[in-house]
Amino acid sequence: MDQAILKKNLNKISGCNLGYVGYPCQNCFNISSLKLTQPKDEYWKAILAFRGDNPNLRQNPILIEELNKAIEEEIIKRSSR
Ligand SMILES: [Zn+2]
Repeated sequence: MDQAILKKNLNKISGCNLGYVGYPCQNCFNISSLKLTQPKDEYWKAILAFRGDNPNLRQNPILIEELNKAIEEEIIKRSSR
């Protein structure tokens, strides 16, 4: 997964780029509607680990892939409305 792709998709789905290095803030991420299998918090922790601003968090590439897939599906759904 490319950092730039995930960030761009997160920005698109949340409408926010006010967080760390242009990522959405946690608030906007939490209210974005996505079909996910785990609690939103788990994906947020995975995002923090992925973008590298908290070295204590464990990388979770599986959640990152699932999150990005869910975002891309939601973007497609929205654009076909
Ligand atoms: Zn925000």
